[in-house]
Amino acid sequence: MDSSTTLRRYKRLYRKARREKLPRLIEKYGDRCFWCECHLTPEIMTIDHYIPLSLGGSNKTDNLRLACYGCNQKRGNAMPEDTPEIIAEKSCIRFPSHWPQPKYQLGQLVSLGRIIGVEYQSPGTRRAYDLGLGWIYAVLIDDLGYDTLQLKESEIELPSLSLLQAEINYEKLLVEIHQKNLGCLDEQMGALVQLDKSLEGEQA
Ligand SMILES: [Zn+2]
Repeated sequence: MDSSTTLRRYKRLYRKARREKLPRLIEKYGDRCFWCECHLTPEIMTIDHYIPLSLGGSNKTDNLRLACYGCNQKRGNAMPEDTPEIIAEKSCIRFPSHWPQPKYQLGQLVSLGRIIGVEYQSPGTRRAYDLGLGWIYAVLIDDLGYDTLQLKESEIELPSLSLLQAEINYEKLLVEIHQKNLGCLDEQMGALVQLDKSLEGEQA
């Protein structure tokens, strides 16, 4: 299988998993990150393996949790018992007072996409060497969540008015599509209930 086929298959499986498992996970754990308890918006909501797959965890629902993108990225393949410490260590919510305030916020729309991760790189660390010093933002380029760019604060630009307007229109369109889908599902449900009743009637 070539890599684009593999990727397509993976995307399909992932969407199926989201559709089937997300509602159950939200019902069980609420719409908060299992690790940092932040409120999960669709842009930053990820499905996290409680025991990582690489360490023998399964894909079954009881091994799945909801986590924000940031926590999921930070913990990597850590075991659950090590995770809180790792996340606290890399926390971008409580930070030393000598660090500057980040200019942009999690979830904010910028010219290239949406910010789904914010991380401070201190001098002398490996990641600062790779990524640059100061606040680094993970920007989600499209809705599918497969392309993120790591940008320095100086590389971030605010969205234009027209982009913001386009984004608002797009969100409104999504609401319309969801409403249509709901309508279709309701109709199907109605038809099915009707069919059930008429079958019962025949049997009686
Ligand atoms: Zn979190």
